[in-house]
Amino acid sequence: MRTTTGWQADPGTRRLRRTTLMRRDLRPDDLAIRVDYCGVCHSDLHALRAHESDAGGVLVPGHEFTGTVREVGSAVTGFAPGEAVAVGNIVDSCGTCPMCLAGQENFCRDFPTLTYGGRDRQDGTTTLGGYSREYVVREAFAHHLPAGLDAAGAAPLLCAGITVWEPLRALGVGPGSTVAVAGLGGLGHLAVKLAVALGATTSVLSRTREKADEAHALGADGFVLATDARQMAAVRDRFDVVIDTISAPHDLAPYLRTVALDGTLSHLGHLGRVTVDTTDLLIGRKKLGSAGSGGRPSTAALLRFCAAHRLTADIELLPSSRVNTALDRLARNDVRHRFVLDMSDLDRQ
Ligand SMILES: [Zn+2]
Ligand SMILES: [Zn+2]
Repeated sequence: MRTTTGWQADPGTRRLRRTTLMRRDLRPDDLAIRVDYCGVCHSDLHALRAHESDAGGVLVPGHEFTGTVREVGSAVTGFAPGEAVAVGNIVDSCGTCPMCLAGQENFCRDFPTLTYGGRDRQDGTTTLGGYSREYVVREAFAHHLPAGLDAAGAAPLLCAGITVWEPLRALGVGPGSTVAVAGLGGLGHLAVKLAVALGATTSVLSRTREKADEAHALGADGFVLATDARQMAAVRDRFDVVIDTISAPHDLAPYLRTVALDGTLSHLGHLGRVTVDTTDLLIGRKKLGSAGSGGRPSTAALLRFCAAHRLTADIELLPSSRVNTALDRLARNDVRHRFVLDMSDLDRQ
């Protein structure tokens, strides 16, 4: 085994403490990556909360990171030491089911191996995430980080970015499309930037009047105050695609009414059970969808697109020693728009 340093939650706690972590020795198709920057995702917060009431095992979060290849296994052909690399929230899949064969490893029928809290398909151990100075991953689930992309700002593309990119592409968003984004957090701000870069006329639907300036700064053309019935009525049947990134339980009906004829409301992330009056779908032949994470081909396509458009997340960069502060502030939505941890402080004692 190899050792590295990272941030771990011990059994029954959600506070992270710095400690020594074990990584597997390189298999023939593995890369050892020095993690340089790791984003702080809402999933990390949820995982830590769940871990607090879990007596077994340890948790090391982190599933959107960029870094540098340090070592390669004997059979690796696509990467060399020194290259810039990026890893997202899945690190393996069955490779043979219809979803995997379609390049949608994120929907693998055998469930993809998650970057942390997942079960390694070969030795059955629990995966430890990117809040760490080193990560060992199959080369097939690592991505080249294109030159010209800021490595810190690119880290959130690997979870938040790909989660909004796949539905935008699958729903055919491009020049001539009208898109609305509900919620302006880590996912929502990237949805606005990507929709604008794809050429769509883009609006933000928000319950907070103060978000209007942020929305326009991100490139949005329109801003609709979702608590204002007159403003919502004015955009009735307006948007071809509504990307709903609101994670708290909420009524979908007001947002469905803003969807255009034959348009789609796509809710991203996990909302659980919802109640929908099918009349809100019937009138206008509207569709309700969902998505999350992304497959390998579309992740590579996203990184190429972002490099071409010089598009990265708006981040607040903190040394990894402030990880608990970052999580506390994220829990209060006190971030614009994503925390990224600089892992280089783990090299110091
Ligand atoms: Zn995530
Ligand atoms: Zn599969």
